[in-house]
Amino acid sequence: MNITGIKGMNDILPGDIETWQHLEEQARQVFGAFGYREIRVPVVEKTDLFCRSIGETTDIVEKEMYTFSDKGGTSMTLRPEGTAPVMRSFIQHKLYAQDPVSKLYYIGPMFRHERPQKGRYRQFHQIGAEVIGVDDPKIDAQVLAMLSHYFATTKIPDVALQINSLGCPECRPDYREALIKFLEQRLQALCADCQRRYTSNPLRVLDCKVPGCKEATIEAPAMLENLCIGCDTHFNQVKEHLDALSVDYTVNQRMVRGLDYYTKTTFEMITGSLGAQNAIAAGGRYDGLIKDLGGPALPGIGFAIGLERLALLLGEQRIAPPRPELFIATLGEAGTKAGFALLTSLQRQGILAEMEYTGKSLKAQLRRADKLNTRRVLILGEDELERGVAQLRYMDESSQEEIDLNGLESRLLREINSETNGA
Ligand code: ATP
Ligand code: MG
Repeated sequence: MNITGIKGMNDILPGDIETWQHLEEQARQVFGAFGYREIRVPVVEKTDLFCRSIGETTDIVEKEMYTFSDKGGTSMTLRPEGTAPVMRSFIQHKLYAQDPVSKLYYIGPMFRHERPQKGRYRQFHQIGAEVIGVDDPKIDAQVLAMLSHYFATTKIPDVALQINSLGCPECRPDYREALIKFLEQRLQALCADCQRRYTSNPLRVLDCKVPGCKEATIEAPAMLENLCIGCDTHFNQVKEHLDALSVDYTVNQRMVRGLDYYTKTTFEMITGSLGAQNAIAAGGRYDGLIKDLGGPALPGIGFAIGLERLALLLGEQRIAPPRPELFIATLGEAGTKAGFALLTSLQRQGILAEMEYTGKSLKAQLRRADKLNTRRVLILGEDELERGVAQLRYMDESSQEEIDLNGLESRLLREINSETNGA
């Protein structure tokens, strides 16, 4: 019986991985320039961490977590998102004692037991960033400017930024009550999920994808119109800074994030090119989270980008695998020995070089060289070795010359290095 992978958990194969590496390298570069440093945290945490931060009544905690007991009986969970583990680590290692402002980013797999479909998987990957210690609206705008810039440099097509404010512990409770009252009048029109959660998590109803729920809540009160003065001023300043930085956005009053810890500014990056799974990044402020998790009362803001969805968007424009600089084709034992030594020496010097290892015919070796799209082929035959020469074939030019074995390696190195430096 063949053992296959787990449903909803994908392999990322060579041919696809180049796109992923490009997305990751670009993130390191862009985030690095904005002053972020990488943090790596484990993929498993104590279950309590997610219940306390994400919230008991959210979809993630209610039905999407991979939770199990380890051999010691501790309840553990494969991380469904990155912010809670990063905050746990931030508090545990007192990173705030080193610097009043922390800018951190992470890259890695997340796990949610959802129904697998295009753009929605059970193991998926996020690149996320967090700024801790600044509540100034400039930072909200800068985070969004960085995110937009990242999508511009990675050439993600058709991206639109939507922003909203979810208020704070001062203004949200009253709004929540008003919303519950509004929903009470329309219970019959809501789906079963929303009928169940309209008191425990009424904001979630605004985010429900069921058409009946959308229609029933068209006239629902909006958080934006019920913000306290502090939240309202903050939101207006974020918008002013975004305008000043030429970051395009629209305000979406119905955007509700599915995690309880968000306060004030929340946002999503939406693409028109992915069908139902149209969010490619999302995030917001979480000014109460660090204190709730037992740390100091520090504000925070962050986002997470869904890498599978970016890879889907870039899927058409595959990045070609790297071209070998040299393929060494050999004939006879002495040729193979000399070729293998030259191959290893070039590889040690950082040159992508290849050969056929199992004594195939010259024709088969050349076929393989062609398949690998190599730039040059060096043919090392026994007669040629005796004469102290080799044939060097340039594949793009279809030209060939006989060259001296003396100084062969340094000539190849000079030529390849001057080409790659000049390119
Ligand atoms: P969605 O509304 O699509 O379920 P979400 O609000 O649950 O997204 P977040 O928790 O905010 O998503 O995660 C941020 C990003 O991570 C999403 O915008 C999306 O790109 C990606 N993402 C979330 N869940 C999945 C998943 N199951 N498979 C692939 N990508 C995902
Ligand atoms: Mg979700």
